[in-house]
Amino acid sequence: MVNHEKLRRMELRKTSGTRNINRPIPPPSHRGPRYLVAHACFTCRKSFKVPGKDIGSNLCPECRGDLVFMGRAFKAPKQSNKREWRKIQALIERGYNFNAYRQSNPLNYPKNLADLKAFFSEIAD
Ligand SMILES: [Zn+2]
Repeated sequence: MVNHEKLRRMELRKTSGTRNINRPIPPPSHRGPRYLVAHACFTCRKSFKVPGKDIGSNLCPECRGDLVFMGRAFKAPKQSNKREWRKIQALIERGYNFNAYRQSNPLNYPKNLADLKAFFSEIAD
C-alpha cells in the first residue's frame, strides 16, 4: 500500500533541498593495506619502491623521468650491470613484468641478454 501523501511530501523535500540523499561512497578498487611495489628508472638504472600502479604515475626522484612499474618480484641488478638492465628493459617493453607474487609458476626469463632473442621468438611461435 502506497502512502501518496508521504510520497508527495518526500518529493517536496527533495525539490526544496532539505532531503539530500547521500549516495553510498563506492569502496576503493584496491582493498587491504597499501603496499609498495618495485618501480625502475632505466635512465638511472635504479629501483624504487613506491605505491602500486593504480595510485598514479610516479616520477624518478633523481632524474624526474617516468618510473616503470616492475612488479613485486623484481630484484634490481647492480647499477653497473648495464647488460642486465638492457635485458630487463627489453622484457618490460614487450609487456613482461615481475609480478610473480603467489603465482605457481616462477618467472622463467632468460638469464642473459643474448638469450632474449631466442626467448622472444619462442614465445611468438
Ligand atoms: Zn631516474
